Amino acid sequence: MNFKKNYDAIKNRIKYTCESIGRDPTEVQILAVTKTVSVENIDLALKSGISLIGENKVQEAEAKLPLLQEKYREFHFIGHLQSNKINKLLPLKPDLIHSIDSLSTLKKLNHRLQELSRIQDVLLQVNTSGEYSKFGITPEETESFLKQSQEFEHIRIKGLMTIGMFTTDVAVIRKCFRTLYELFHEIKTIDLANSEMKYLSMGMSNDYEIAIEEGANILRIGTAIFGTRN
Ligand SMILES: *Cc1c(COP(=O)(O)O)cnc(C)c1O
Repeated sequence: MNFKKNYDAIKNRIKYTCESIGRDPTEVQILAVTKTVSVENIDLALKSGISLIGENKVQEAEAKLPLLQEKYREFHFIGHLQSNKINKLLPLKPDLIHSIDSLSTLKKLNHRLQELSRIQDVLLQVNTSGEYSKFGITPEETESFLKQSQEFEHIRIKGLMTIGMFTTDVAVIRKCFRTLYELFHEIKTIDLANSEMKYLSMGMSNDYEIAIEEGANILRIGTAIFGTRN
């Protein structure tokens, strides 16, 4: 598997899509999703220019990250965060947690961060596809969730994340992404102490071009770089 070739092809498609709609391609970051990818292959990918890596399971990240020989610029956690995994996740120093969808987990996270005297950047995961996804807060409850999060002084909410509907119907996928974009812009107008709408994390291997067209600035891409997972 030639990761560099895949990565370069994705970068070219990002550039092409951005240019066709007048966006600056340097605004769009690629998070390489390394779940199920071996330490050796992550090292190879890092050597060929990948700099942001994302994992969705705390245990897997905990096992692999210390074994990497190559340096990464950022590690993002993108999976569902169970509160009993917080103590194992934080030593891995995630630069961004994409997947906050519960106030009780956020409260526990804040408490642990307070003990560690650390501040953590997070995104809220919003369920824009309805019944398809079991995780994520609804678009309707996002504003109130944000307001209630303002008491957590060790948390900085930096934006929103969603997973598009798993379908080949482009219009349906686009609607998910547009919902998130509109929410992102609505929230921008609200004055919140611990929040700043900076990152819009949406788009995966099969739908990242649609996500770019709808305003994404972090794409989470696994399969298109590393090949099909088992
Ligand atoms: C696995 C995963 C991705 C990447 O999916 P691909 O289709 O392989 O690009 C992105 N986001 C999340 C939350 C994931 O779990």
